[in-house]
Amino acid sequence: MKRIAMEKQDKAIKYIGYCFEDILRFTPLMLWGKLLISIVEGVMAVWQPILIADICELASNLTAMNTEIFYKNVLFLCLCIGLPAVCSVVMKAVAIYNDCKKESCYGWKLFEHAQKIRLETLEDSQVLDTFQKADAAYSGQMAGSRMLSCIFIMAEAVLICVSTIYVVGRFSIWLIPGAVLSFIPHLAVNLLSEKQRTAVYRAQSGVRRRMQYLWERFCKKESVKEMRTMGFGGYFKKMWVEANVATMHELEEVELKALKLGCLDASLKNACYAVNIAIALFLLLNGGLVVGQFAACLSAFALLQNELMKLGDKIGEFSNYYHYVEEYYDFFSTETEQDGQEEYRPFEKEITLNQVHFRYCGSEKDSLNGVNLRIKKGEHVVIVGVNGSGKTTLSKVLMGAYRASSGSVCYDGQNVNDLRKEGLYRDISMVSQDFVHYNFTLRENICISDIKYREDEKRIQETMATVEMEELAESIGGLECQLGREFGGKELSGGEWQKVAIARGLFRDSRLIILDEPTSALDPLMEYDILTKFLGLIKGKTSVIISHRVGICRSADKIVVMKEGRVVECGTHEELLGKGGEYSHIWEEQAKWY
Ligand code: ADP
Repeated sequence: MKRIAMEKQDKAIKYIGYCFEDILRFTPLMLWGKLLISIVEGVMAVWQPILIADICELASNLTAMNTEIFYKNVLFLCLCIGLPAVCSVVMKAVAIYNDCKKESCYGWKLFEHAQKIRLETLEDSQVLDTFQKADAAYSGQMAGSRMLSCIFIMAEAVLICVSTIYVVGRFSIWLIPGAVLSFIPHLAVNLLSEKQRTAVYRAQSGVRRRMQYLWERFCKKESVKEMRTMGFGGYFKKMWVEANVATMHELEEVELKALKLGCLDASLKNACYAVNIAIALFLLLNGGLVVGQFAACLSAFALLQNELMKLGDKIGEFSNYYHYVEEYYDFFSTETEQDGQEEYRPFEKEITLNQVHFRYCGSEKDSLNGVNLRIKKGEHVVIVGVNGSGKTTLSKVLMGAYRASSGSVCYDGQNVNDLRKEGLYRDISMVSQDFVHYNFTLRENICISDIKYREDEKRIQETMATVEMEELAESIGGLECQLGREFGGKELSGGEWQKVAIARGLFRDSRLIILDEPTSALDPLMEYDILTKFLGLIKGKTSVIISHRVGICRSADKIVVMKEGRVVECGTHEELLGKGGEYSHIWEEQAKWY
């Protein structure tokens, strides 16, 4: 128990340190400005009751000797009241200037880490959960900067409290317990309520993610269409409403408890205030205080009580923001890709996979089960096999995106684990089955894979010709046409989007191109046509095409048949047909299409 508490404490200190580091890096002006203003406000606030006491004393006994001091004190009092107001306006202006910058810095930090994260860990639901929470902490809560503001307000409140206790104590030490006593229940109430809120919020995190998922389905055009036509919108709504009612009910209970405790706390605070007025009156009537001191003492006491209450509120708020800060910084402990040290040399001979195994996080069995494969430079390889046989996983391991659990993947003997990934990825082009529809222009959609050639018209035209999309480009009004309905552009059919994705993959100047079921939305004949043409045109490049349809296999140099994570057959179309095994079985099943 003690160890866990110590670990939590160490983590909190570390994360608060990160917060300071980040704000110092992103917005130093804000940090130093806030620090300066906190000190100014603190000093001014404490000075006020002292000045009020002096002014009252002098006013009752004004002579030619002390008139100058009297007016000086009045001037200082005006300064004490006015300067913090000016400071807060200046700070607001700095905050406006900094806010956009500051939040985008936190966002960039998140983005940069996401860019380095090990790709296979993105298949792990826990990592995705951490990612989403960090994003929410940054975009929804602005956690880091708010927590830091909290720290400053707390520091200022502590400064004011300590000095005001000294001032109040100078009038009478009997006035101190009343103020301090009202603070303790207030702090306890705040911490307890905040703890309960956080506990409920954490317990609800799974349900909230589900609600967010359902909500996104309500807003995505594909699911909206399907929901409407298939008539399951009501079912979705019911699921969302049930989850929402349950979470709101739990939150309501917590807030009601907090409200009840808050009432008790307010009564205690008022009682303490009344007791202190009584003490001050008693002192006034018995000569312990003069009138000026009585007024100053009440003002100091009110200030002390207010600051203590503020401190209590901010400690509660701090624990709430810390919860988000924790979620934000937790993300940065997710495993990043371990980049190798060796510079990648473009392969000239072959890619070899030797006894490769791969298992997804949380899975109980290997998805690749001892794969041996050799792909020669310039070879066109087609990987076939039933769904779930490991084709996509193999393609990810082959390109070094997923690290094999055991075995090796080598490019001319260079193990991918030892290579700098940037150089390796530069030499590979991947078109996956879940490619993205970018709501950009057609030109950007094609050239984004090698953006420096975006004005290379010849290269764009050649690429489009390979996937037979010149007509499509013409019909939508050319390369500058905005694609996608979301921003008022032209929408394409599933097959047309696939052509755009293949063109994007082809446009990239790489030695190896991997197409993972890129033509599944095309009819088999169109698919056969495009892929055969594609193989004819990418001579010199090495290609790996993953497909569950075997039509393309006749044009391949090598066919790899996968089953249950293993390569069960490997050879040319004729060789494998002659064998009468797995491939010939699939071929016969699908032959009627061609
Ligand atoms: P294919 O491309 O041949 O359809 P995959 O490579 O996608 O096959 O999947 C191979 C195996 O790995 C399947 O058993 C599948 O259930 C499993 N698998 C795929 N993705 C994941 C994942 N993210 N987490 C756990 N298991 C997965």
